[in-house]
Amino acid sequence: MPISEFALIERFFRHVGVRRADVRLGIGDDAALLAPAAGCDLVATVDTLVEGVHFPAGSPAASIGHRALAVNLSDLAAMGARPAWALLSLTLPEPRESWLEEFSAGFSALARTHQVALVGGNTTSGPLCISVQVLGHVPSGRALLRSGGKAGDTVFVSGTPGDSAAGLRLELGRLKDTSEAAAYLRERFLYPAPRVALGERLRDFASACIDVSDGLLADGEKLARASGCGVRMLHADLPVSESLVSVVGDDTARRLALTGGEDYELCFAVRAADVPRLMAELPPDQWAYRAIGALREVPGASVIAADATVMDFSHSGWDHFGA
Ligand code: ADP
Ligand code: MG
Repeated sequence: MPISEFALIERFFRHVGVRRADVRLGIGDDAALLAPAAGCDLVATVDTLVEGVHFPAGSPAASIGHRALAVNLSDLAAMGARPAWALLSLTLPEPRESWLEEFSAGFSALARTHQVALVGGNTTSGPLCISVQVLGHVPSGRALLRSGGKAGDTVFVSGTPGDSAAGLRLELGRLKDTSEAAAYLRERFLYPAPRVALGERLRDFASACIDVSDGLLADGEKLARASGCGVRMLHADLPVSESLVSVVGDDTARRLALTGGEDYELCFAVRAADVPRLMAELPPDQWAYRAIGALREVPGASVIAADATVMDFSHSGWDHFGA
């Protein structure tokens, strides 16, 4: 006998994430009652993942649950906000208990890591599609925006972008490799780690911030444009992982770092005068970020090679011109 909607919610969603004192009423009534923190702005975001579009058909259910929450936590991280509450709208073809169990466990583990409570949602049948909304807080007026950068600001990125794009190609079988490095890259795609703690700390340092979902080059350009600038990135300074280089080679690793996407890392700008303080208080090795370039007045995004020539990544690959 198929599980009833009521039993499904009770069993798989009632106790997801943490319990929070600021949840007056969670799952079970017509809507949740939440008590926003005093002196804070409420920060809200929503993202939808569709099977076959945002993740390969047949992905592990735990990964789908993890990613559906992670992409939203990453948006909050980019605002310098602390997440608190999530809502989940789940459309699924059939309520398979083993799938629901894993999905819920994947979602819940990440929710616990970030002290998030699942406070409501909706369940319907149809093609697999997951929509998650996350709400959080930032001290009033202190959110990180894309628009605060200025020409001359140093641009940084967290983590090792490109890993996730390679992981997705491995998942899809478009790249074949059974090494430990390849397993690590798949993991990076399936279970991205949103940089929530870094985002919060960056409120004291960054002039502008964005999370990298469409590729470092495209998202770096979005930050620059919102700030009324362009951005210059140094090809040799891109932080590519050893795993990525060992699987795809150095050139492709750097191309994926720039254009791959799904990284859920933070790209942020810091006034040159604030860089020493940033480095001292958030040691780059410990916080995993690196300077990759600077904002400048010339609009657009360009990548500079080690020999100082401009590289073109506007197509699928890059052309070296002027050399
Ligand atoms: P309504 O029809 O009034 O929207 P439902 O019967 O759909 O209410 O849902 C009952 C309760 O279960 C509500 O509190 C709702 O937020 C919650 N809920 C439903 N589906 C989910 C889900 N997938 N995850 C979390 N909470 C859910
Ligand atoms: Mg109702």
